[in-house]
Amino acid sequence: MQTSNTQYSLVVLPGDGVGPEVMDSGLKILHEIGRLFGLTFNLKTKLVGGCSYDKYGTPITSETIEACSKADAVLLGAVGGPNWDSLPHDEKPETALLRLREDLALYSNFRPATVSKHLLQESPLRDEIIRDVDLIIVRELTGGIYFGLPKGYNEEKGWNTLVYKREEIVRIAHAAFQLAEQRKSVLTSVHKANVLDSSHFWKLIVHEIHASSYSHIHLSDMYVDNAAMQLVSHPSQFDVILTQNMFGDILSDIAATISGSLGMLPSASLGKEHALYEPVHGSAPDIAGKDVANPIGMITSIGMMFNYSLKLPKAGDLICRSIEDTLSRGYRTVDISRQNEKTSTTDEITTAIIESMNELFEMDGKTKQNSIERMNG
Ligand code: NAD
Repeated sequence: MQTSNTQYSLVVLPGDGVGPEVMDSGLKILHEIGRLFGLTFNLKTKLVGGCSYDKYGTPITSETIEACSKADAVLLGAVGGPNWDSLPHDEKPETALLRLREDLALYSNFRPATVSKHLLQESPLRDEIIRDVDLIIVRELTGGIYFGLPKGYNEEKGWNTLVYKREEIVRIAHAAFQLAEQRKSVLTSVHKANVLDSSHFWKLIVHEIHASSYSHIHLSDMYVDNAAMQLVSHPSQFDVILTQNMFGDILSDIAATISGSLGMLPSASLGKEHALYEPVHGSAPDIAGKDVANPIGMITSIGMMFNYSLKLPKAGDLICRSIEDTLSRGYRTVDISRQNEKTSTTDEITTAIIESMNELFEMDGKTKQNSIERMNG
């Protein structure tokens, strides 16, 4: 619960692999924002994923879920890794994510993909393809094939159920249309209605909501296989992409090619009462413990928290501008660097972002002071 306009309670779930490393960077940024804007963050750090399994025999405890449900927002690093690969399927670290999403009713997952003008050369895609990209994937997060029953496997077969209820489609469609209203008013509904009944149903409901409440938004449909291709061939056509749980999971990793690395992408998982912010990437066991992980996805997720949950867009904006400024000064983690280019560690790029934050904050203060003096004099 928010105790005052300047005090916030946050639950911090660093998780496994690179999760604690990128979270450490994120918390340094958070503390700096607190210092600059006079905000206090009451942090509760909890185990989640494989580390929770090792200590408590479960990837997430009820006590942790309870703490998350009382917080103003939850920050998550990443979970999973090879240490827990042999666990029974329903005890794997990743099940903690599904429980959090379900128990906190985080049905709407926003995944923006943009490209920094300083990273146009680092993307595997040509700069004329990605230069103007500013899209956001709205992924339905608590329904579809990741949650549908029955599911299971035996020696002969494995099965999952892809089911969407009307109310699940209605609420995510409203979230996406409302987001499109604040952007360029263009929404692409991505599905597989040519083959799947559940997708045909999805398409009908999205059109129904459009006709009844959002006819001023430009709505089009796209099959998911085509969307995957369009995301790398002509991504600037998209504004808001509304899609189902598994399609959104896959398409957002494809969208990472636009930003240059999976390590750049942030996300916000929102419900009516709760919110969780995490980078799109996983626990990256191949680079964990080496101080080379890109923390920008985590840091930008914290920027999203300031915009969506804490309603402090000035802090969110300062974080984004500081990242841009740091990239303009040539700081690069390995994943966004070109061959033979000098690279920074996770810690070094975090320190550079904090330097930029301080410089930009001071400049903003001077600009404000000058305009007050001009008005008075
Ligand atoms: P991954 O996202 O962990 O890694 C994919 C690739 O991207 C790897 O080459 C990795 O080195 C790179 N990468 C990821 N994050 C990076 C960063 N911050 N900086 C630089 N490079 C980065 O995906 P994976 O290898 O398929 O999965 C590893 C584990 O993470 C699995 O157990 C998986 O289930 C789990 N996972 C968790 C989440 C989550 O916690 N939300 C999401 C996806 C995968």
